[in-house]
Amino acid sequence: MRAVKNLLVLYTGGTIGMLQTPQGLAPAGGFEARMRAWLAHNPQVRSPQWTLREMSPLLDSANMQQGNWLAMRDAIVEAVQQDGHDGVLLLHGTDTLAYSAAALAFLLLGLDVPVLLTGSMLPAGAPDSDAWDNLGGALTLLAEGVANGVQLYFAGQLLPGVRASKLRSDAFDAFAALPRHREGERAGELPAVLSHAQPRTPVNLAVLPIYPGLQAAHVRAVLETGVKGLLLECYGSGTGPSDDEALLEVLRDAADRGVLVAAISQCAEGSVVFDTYAAGSRLRDTGLVSAGGMTREAALGKMFGLLGAGLELGTARHWFALDLCGERA
Ligand code: ASP
Repeated sequence: MRAVKNLLVLYTGGTIGMLQTPQGLAPAGGFEARMRAWLAHNPQVRSPQWTLREMSPLLDSANMQQGNWLAMRDAIVEAVQQDGHDGVLLLHGTDTLAYSAAALAFLLLGLDVPVLLTGSMLPAGAPDSDAWDNLGGALTLLAEGVANGVQLYFAGQLLPGVRASKLRSDAFDAFAALPRHREGERAGELPAVLSHAQPRTPVNLAVLPIYPGLQAAHVRAVLETGVKGLLLECYGSGTGPSDDEALLEVLRDAADRGVLVAAISQCAEGSVVFDTYAAGSRLRDTGLVSAGGMTREAALGKMFGLLGAGLELGTARHWFALDLCGERA
């Protein structure tokens, strides 16, 4: 725990700073002045010294893509290594906040500063908005001391960036860390290729739920787009239609061609344990890697961190199976 003295507030857009337009709420600049004015009227709020940087363009986070994760990562690393900031508060829309938090956790491995993400369900300035509570609470935490690494602060809760999910679209306490099972060996010293200094490039990844009616042709069509990583959201403890030989063949082929195919559970609690059911073992035998109790957001962010660094399948599978920053253990 370390009190932050020189904070960068990185404003990416999101409801927190949105203003009403004829088309509805849209991201708006000028948040620094609004934040300074609010703090001037609320001197009881403890805050580190801060400067604000606006990302460009400001986004409704529904438009976030991998390139935006990389731009946020670059801005954070530059703020710490070149501008001497010792903590970052990232203001972000809530729709993909948990995805960005998870991706950044893997993109910033080894960068020893606190990175806190927050946003709000209602815009700052709207009646009964949660914006200033979330912002003020995050500033106070940073001023008082918070652990290094990526975390999410929302509605009074501090959540690990690699374990949070947006569970509610209509309540202030929109985020929670799902009580998913924790298991997995903690990785020892991380190689340079996994550190924040490692350049990454966008990579074709897909997420596909298994559901009654899923056909081999559906999965084949996704794989034919050239995906390098496929996250299959399996039933329960990692099962799927194991009597569908065509589907198993498509998955086997993908693994043989070097695609990282990993399984998470669709259930909110629990984890993938392939050997519980024969149906799970048959899926595992196609070359599927278990994501254990990882959330979809964490598993996707981790795939990006590994495959975006250009790791080949064997190495990516190795690190995917280990716990790098609290995502599975
Ligand atoms: N759609 C908005 C966004 O994610 C919702 C929000 O900010 O809460 O940017």
